[in-house]
Amino acid sequence: MSLIYDKPGSQDSAEAFLHVQQCLSACVKDHDCGSTNSTADLPTRLLYVGGSDPQIIRLVATEELKALGTEVDRYVALSYCWGQSNHFVTTLASLSARQSGFALTEMPATMQDAVRVTRALDCRYLWIDALCILQGDDDEARLDWQLESARMQFVYGNSFCTIVAASADDSHGGLFSTESAVTKKFKDEPINSRAWALQEWLLSARLLVYTKEYIVFICSASQWSKYFPAGQSQTSWHRIYKYRLPRQPMQPNIADWFTLVQNYSARDLTNPDDKLSAISGLARRFDSLTNQGNGRYLAGMWELDLYASLLWRHQNGWGAFFACPKRGMAEWYRAPSWSWAANDSIVCDLLVREARKPEAGHRVANIIHCSTDPATSDIFGPLVSGQLTISGPSRLFEATVKDQHTLIARSSRGKISVANCSFDNENAAAVEAIENAESVHLLIMITVKKLPLCGLILVPSEFSNEFYTRVGIFQGIKKTDEYKSWWSETETREYTIL
Ligand SMILES: [Zn+2]
Repeated sequence: MSLIYDKPGSQDSAEAFLHVQQCLSACVKDHDCGSTNSTADLPTRLLYVGGSDPQIIRLVATEELKALGTEVDRYVALSYCWGQSNHFVTTLASLSARQSGFALTEMPATMQDAVRVTRALDCRYLWIDALCILQGDDDEARLDWQLESARMQFVYGNSFCTIVAASADDSHGGLFSTESAVTKKFKDEPINSRAWALQEWLLSARLLVYTKEYIVFICSASQWSKYFPAGQSQTSWHRIYKYRLPRQPMQPNIADWFTLVQNYSARDLTNPDDKLSAISGLARRFDSLTNQGNGRYLAGMWELDLYASLLWRHQNGWGAFFACPKRGMAEWYRAPSWSWAANDSIVCDLLVREARKPEAGHRVANIIHCSTDPATSDIFGPLVSGQLTISGPSRLFEATVKDQHTLIARSSRGKISVANCSFDNENAAAVEAIENAESVHLLIMITVKKLPLCGLILVPSEFSNEFYTRVGIFQGIKKTDEYKSWWSETETREYTIL
């Protein structure tokens, strides 16, 4: 990581551009950061910004360029926040107008600034999602979006450099900082709360990041520690982007995946249905980097690590860092209840890590079957359904809930606190759902010394009594005789969870 420029008010000065050019040239010359020639997997469409009239931009289809024998030596990609309204996009209706050429000044400020940087980097092509993917609700646009969103690994992975507009809330905010006195920290820049931006960042070999305070360059040869001398701001960057995907195939290190999921889950999606789509490029890259060593990809989790992954829970520790509220389960179906992807809260892997520990015999359940049904041809993309069949020791009872997080059972001797819970929905409705369920099932998954028992809280599915829904995670509490006796009455049962 290199600090290129630290004069916030003049990021569009000739001096700033010169520093940017020098930094990129040094990377191309001295490093093996790749993607300098990306003719193999070009995006379907690109913006041509190198015409004789600098005021005119054209949308071009790369297949047509190939057919004409025009070589696209390299292109730049843009990562930015769309914002809530007034989007400048390509639709089926405007496609031909975009292809015949449109005025640079029609573009919102961030896109215009990205064109300036692209030209300064001596590139003639720029990729911007809103313009290079058809937008809209018609079938053609939807299909185009499905196909293109499944290709993000190549779009960002093969870009010569990705320009990151970190500080603008929307495409009208501009790339260059105009304030001379900056108090905002990098972690609070809008780009860090955008879900799609994580994979755009991690898939790119080179990043040119425009923050309110700095212009920073990050490439595969970057070392985080080199730049921040006095520890200043380091936590801010480091905590968000500590993890870099390796460039070479690696041994499956599944813990890395949950590090990504945790970071990802703290971010916002304009369209909550994109939960699996906006991380699909990372999943595809992870799969190929590990030579498919993690098995099937199942609703955001890997087959090899599925048992432990089922013990995800939401957590608010990261919330303080990212100022992200608890949001609970998604309103509409997009993933099975056993997957973190069904939840809009920040995911925590505390119990997942516990379940991965190789202590003999501490896993007491068995996964019998797991399958998912993708909504499109993309196996890393959105889902229609998914089911998991698992058997293990369980206790079923009619539960009440105390203080929002303790499950109470009745026995002949009165009430017993049987488990501490983390409900997937933390609100009054979730407690009501537990208390109104005809039976609550506690399926034990791990038993370890520190955490006496841990597992899934299941209730019969609202669709059919044959199926179950996950509503949370439980952990055993105190080892009183009453408690032990209650828990001794488990039986092995089989559950199919939707
Ligand atoms: Zn480099």
